[in-house]
Amino acid sequence: MTDPAARLPQPRAPARDRPSPRLPVLPRDSSTPSLTIDRRRAEFADRVSEARFIRHFLPERNAQLKASLLFAAAFYVAFAATDFATLGDTAVAWMLAGLRAGVALVGLGCVAAIVRRPASVRVSIGAACTLLVVALAVFMVVCWFQPQVLAWNAMSQALIIMAVYGNFPNRFVYSVAIGVGSSFVFAAMLAIQGNLRADDLLTLVLLLVMGNALGYIAARRFHVAQREQFRASLLLQQLADRDPLTGCYNRRFLQKGLLNAELERARRYGTPLSVVLCDIDHFKRINDTHGHAAGDQVLADFAGLLLTLTRDTVDSVVRYGGEEFLLVLPQTDLAGAQALAERIRAAFADAPGASIRATASFGIASVPAQAPVLPASSEALIGAADAQLYAAKRGGRNMVCATLAGG
Ligand code: GH3
Ligand code: MG
Ligand code: MG
Repeated sequence: MTDPAARLPQPRAPARDRPSPRLPVLPRDSSTPSLTIDRRRAEFADRVSEARFIRHFLPERNAQLKASLLFAAAFYVAFAATDFATLGDTAVAWMLAGLRAGVALVGLGCVAAIVRRPASVRVSIGAACTLLVVALAVFMVVCWFQPQVLAWNAMSQALIIMAVYGNFPNRFVYSVAIGVGSSFVFAAMLAIQGNLRADDLLTLVLLLVMGNALGYIAARRFHVAQREQFRASLLLQQLADRDPLTGCYNRRFLQKGLLNAELERARRYGTPLSVVLCDIDHFKRINDTHGHAAGDQVLADFAGLLLTLTRDTVDSVVRYGGEEFLLVLPQTDLAGAQALAERIRAAFADAPGASIRATASFGIASVPAQAPVLPASSEALIGAADAQLYAAKRGGRNMVCATLAGG
């Protein structure tokens, strides 16, 4: 006979479309390093958590960004009227109008890029930065040619700063760089033109500093609050979906449709699917002999073994009842499930260093690849595994029994 371990399902790339069953993804408490917020950068310190957060909010963020881009495009074009009012029907006014039209085109191009690549974080951030940098560069040119309306332009710069910090979803550090950088260029330009008295220039600089400081505080507060909210929702989800003793999924999570979704996937793609019901043998006796706390430890050790020996992000481990666990093994055929159960059985029975010796029994029900008939429901599949578990109990415990399911 071949070595059962050789037929074990091999780890494969993480499934993108469902949450990982592992605890590190849904950490136990807010002090977990992966969910620490770096308040200076107003981002999660951990890059993976930050990327997950950004992806989660991307649709909402892109909707806001598209509105801001269209708003900017429309207002840049509309304000060409002020250039003609100030400069008359001159070549400079037409040149500025052309630049304004350019900003509008860049804005529309950014919207098109977001529509074409809605799932790309890079495109979203790139669109926000590109429009802002191009629009601010054009704004400086407009200001350069209209020193006579300096007061209005200073007001426009202040409003643009508000938009940079508040309306264009962006990385906080980029918002700060663009807000501060453009204010610096604006003040430097006015200083070079020399149309302002020193005391007026000082007032303007202080107002720009204040505008940036207020924008900085408000934007940072928003970025941090949004991440705190995200962290709280993850922790609540953790509390709702997981069993606190073992860290496995709870029955409630299973009932939310975990197995139904896998059955549907097996049906659609013709892939195999196996479930394994695992039950610790004579567990009541362990409790009675060693006490409940020791029983809890055995449960936690068994769950740890199940989590360790199954595939991260692919398989799911559910605490089905008191000392019963359900393994959901997508893309795993009968032989693969048997090999895995046998490995768990042997590892648990022979656990080196365990103060309490315990064994477990396993019942497997497996849907083969391209199954002509699938089990009518997830309950039917689990029922078939349960019948095998009872066969294992009747057969003397500490063993694995399996069947093909369907019909
Ligand atoms: P079998 O080999 O037939 O499975 O026998 P068993 O004793 O394991 O099965 P039985 O269903 O008779 O007993 C299960 C026991 O598991 C009874 C219950 O008190 C205990 N139990 C259930 N949940 C917990 C828990 O969270 N912690 C502890 N320590 N014990 C638990
Ligand atoms: Mg039992
Ligand atoms: Mg039981």
